Amino acid sequence: MTPFKRANRVMPGGVNSPVRAFRAVGGEPPFAVSGDGGFITLADGREVVDFIASWGALLFGHAYQPIVDAVRRAAVDGTSFGIPTIAEVELAEKIVEITPSVEVVRMVNSGTEATASAIRLARAATGRPAVVKFAGSYHGHADPFLVDAGSGLATFGVPSSPGVPDGTVADTLIADYNDLASVETYLATGTVAAVIVEPVAGNMGCVPPIDGFLAGLRRLCDEHGTLLIFDEVMTGFRVAADSAQGRYGITPDLTTLGKVVAGGTPAAAYGGRESLMRMIAPDGPVYQAGTLAGNPLATAAGLASLTAIQDDPSLYGRFDEAGDKIADRLLSTMADVGLPGVVTHVGGMIGVFLGVERATTWNDVSGLDGDLYSRFFHAALEGGVLLPPSPYETWFLMESHLDGLLDRALDILERAIREAVR
Ligand SMILES: *Cc1c(COP(=O)(O)O)cnc(C)c1O
Repeated sequence: MTPFKRANRVMPGGVNSPVRAFRAVGGEPPFAVSGDGGFITLADGREVVDFIASWGALLFGHAYQPIVDAVRRAAVDGTSFGIPTIAEVELAEKIVEITPSVEVVRMVNSGTEATASAIRLARAATGRPAVVKFAGSYHGHADPFLVDAGSGLATFGVPSSPGVPDGTVADTLIADYNDLASVETYLATGTVAAVIVEPVAGNMGCVPPIDGFLAGLRRLCDEHGTLLIFDEVMTGFRVAADSAQGRYGITPDLTTLGKVVAGGTPAAAYGGRESLMRMIAPDGPVYQAGTLAGNPLATAAGLASLTAIQDDPSLYGRFDEAGDKIADRLLSTMADVGLPGVVTHVGGMIGVFLGVERATTWNDVSGLDGDLYSRFFHAALEGGVLLPPSPYETWFLMESHLDGLLDRALDILERAIREAVR
């Protein structure tokens, strides 16, 4: 019996998160045994270059020594206490030091918790019910965010999962990413507590904000008394040390962080202006808690991750150069075989869109050719490169890709494009 068949007997889809079942590309998912730098060793013994990077959580590579050492040291002292630890304070101080808009921060266990908590706070602070999110954006699996955008048309939400009551998403309004007009109509109603946005959209492939979009959101929110939430669970510490808010110079009211902030362990955070964050219990009435929040292992990994970022000021510039190289090489191969395409990149986020002419809105990218991507994906895996198993996922760079490994991977990816169109 394959590991996947065995897993399927006791787990829905054989996995703990749906994308890992590889349904979008077909076939059985490979199982990871261990990782080292840019590589994962699979259960069948093969080594593959990994561009999933734990969905962006790994910035420096697998089994990065400073993180492994920090977690090991922490574990020896005890895995959880339920009373405060100094390391939690150090991590909070570091997040506040690095992240421009965050004055006070609360640790939670997942990005889903961070966004759900931020929305609760925004509703409490404004006394308003509605929330604007963007079609094609992902903010975790909490009920208020599980809304299908339908077509590109802005519309009142309909739940995209059974089990989510209509009432829960009735206040979730869907706008179009990179389209300020679609937001303005909602804000004019005066009922919108918050606009939540991935400042670089990363869950419909990587779609960077067009010039003026984020600044426009800031202005519109200010005009209408609406809070601006940057969901930086993916972009945080990935597109710049000071995250997307630093890179684009826009100050959100609240920020959610995850993935890199915990260096590949389960933790996330939300934070922002002190006046807002003091509304959180026990300073204020907005309840939010967590038995394992600020867990010592996750805190140690997060501190090691953020310290490594501060110690490597050239990292994001090198990511940007690598992104240019990936775009050059893959686009010239696509041109060579007569395939249209777009390659986007911001820091350690890469978007590779096969077969489209433009990638600035959900409409541009919502009709990607799944069969084409699937052929490309399997040809790449055959050659030794593990890509995200869906055309709608961002590829993630790790520091360990940058020395020579990237060129080897690009050779394989160029061949995979040729095979995919054959
Ligand atoms: C991954 C992600 C989340 C959800 O985080 P989990 O830790 O998976 O719950 C939320 N928002 C964005 C932008 C993400 O990329």
